[in-house]
Amino acid sequence: MKKNITILGAGLVGSLLSIYLAKRGHKINVYERRPDMRKEKISAGKSINLALSDRGWRGLERTGIADEIRKVAIPMYGRMIHHVNGEVNFQPYGEKDQAIWSVSRGGLNIELMNLAERNPGVKIFFDERCTGVDLENSVAKFENQLTKKNSSVESDVIFGADGAFSAARHQLQLSTDRFQYSQYYIEHGYKELNIPAAENGEWNLEKNALHIWPRGGYMLIALPNIDGSFTCTLFFPFEGGESFSKLDTKEKTIDFFTRVFPDAVPLMPTLADDFFRNPTGSLVTVRCFPWSYNDTMCLIGDAAHAIVPFFGQGMNCGFEDCTILQELMDENETDWEKLFKDFEQSRKPNSDAIAQLALENFIEMRDLVGDKKFLLRKKIEAWFHEKHPDQWLSLYSQVTFSAHIPYSVALSNGKRQDEIMKKIMEMEHIEERWNSEEVEKTMLNLLSWLA
Ligand SMILES: Cc1cc2nc3c(=O)[nH]c(=O)nc-3n(C[C@H](O)[C@H](O)[C@H](O)COP(=O)(O)OP(=O)(O)OC[C@H]3O[C@@H](n4cnc5c(N)ncnc54)[C@H](O)[C@@H]3O)c2cc1C
Repeated sequence: MKKNITILGAGLVGSLLSIYLAKRGHKINVYERRPDMRKEKISAGKSINLALSDRGWRGLERTGIADEIRKVAIPMYGRMIHHVNGEVNFQPYGEKDQAIWSVSRGGLNIELMNLAERNPGVKIFFDERCTGVDLENSVAKFENQLTKKNSSVESDVIFGADGAFSAARHQLQLSTDRFQYSQYYIEHGYKELNIPAAENGEWNLEKNALHIWPRGGYMLIALPNIDGSFTCTLFFPFEGGESFSKLDTKEKTIDFFTRVFPDAVPLMPTLADDFFRNPTGSLVTVRCFPWSYNDTMCLIGDAAHAIVPFFGQGMNCGFEDCTILQELMDENETDWEKLFKDFEQSRKPNSDAIAQLALENFIEMRDLVGDKKFLLRKKIEAWFHEKHPDQWLSLYSQVTFSAHIPYSVALSNGKRQDEIMKKIMEMEHIEERWNSEEVEKTMLNLLSWLA
């Protein structure tokens, strides 16, 4: 039976979900707290671009807009590491031609909303903030942000796609017994900065790379935009010796950047202004369970599982939620309580796994990518993968370049690979014989022992 469905949030996941559900013949009303971004200027400092990878592409491909998005996305084939002494080196992400793609968050969201509204079954209402949900009766309550008028909307099913600080999730927490919930803020915040295009409109840094300035306890990164600019993000502690709290004047900020990111500063003419104008964001991991209430409501995307951005997977994971929900609906579209149970059972271990991997990858990005031993380890893994592609796929590739390996399987494979590589790196004179037959045999043996 076709349903009247309410989706809370017209962000990336809510918009994609509305397209999927409309294609199945359901009638969808989407309620978004913010104004229509197609009519308003997007405020600065709110993560202008995102890295889209295979799981995200898979979600988009089913809507038919993947080709459109690819035209305005920039492939990044690896990390470009900027050392303090000015040295720069490139580390490929995977095999030749494998890339993650820099896409505009606003541009992607707009494309998804346009596509959604082309469907006669989808309506999006803006400036409508959800203030609560009557879970028993499937009634969502709203406050209009312009008129301050309250309203209620009854439907058959509600999806909470309202992001990391979800009102739908808050309602589950208030109204259900034994709702598991945790939120964890890391000590680092983030601030967006800018490298404008060169005078001729070209990129001031290598365009097809994700640039990283790893500095141990913190890092600066830069992703390319199609207008020739780069959006930079500083991930930096809130408090402590080198921290946001210490950079309280423009002079201190410029001095600090000149000392630790010397090759970036000449490319950032508005650094001091950007630094004090743009907000400092915090980074949270949210875990909760269950995600659903009977057959009336289900959480999806960041509302169910907000993660830190260091594996570039938050949106990709949310798009994968939509793909998996579709697959489950292909099997059963009559019993929605069972559908939601199957969905949360299938996704929870995977969202927990990517949450953990994302936290761990921060250490790799801000610290290890500049470390010689780490680079040797990566070289050995790539060499062994080339010889035995069926036996070894790096953790990064399992997460990023596979739309089929569940995150939880990637996590456990990654732990096993860690154990093996620890032993390999302890081998005597590994620097000289890293690509020897002996190393190859040892890796094969360890793989069979730890299978
Ligand atoms: C700095 C940073 C960098 C990131 N980089 C990447 C990356 O490279 N790759 C990647 O895959 N992911 C990345 N992410 C994660 C990604 O942004 C999120 O995972 C993704 O936006 C989740 O989509 P969503 O639709 O679930 O939530 P959101 O994008 O947050 O959308 C939720 C929507 O709901 C609306 N809303 C909220 N509350 C209400 C309410 N009460 N009523 C009605 N509407 C409401 C919001 O206005 C919003 O439009 C990054 C995140 C950050 C912070």
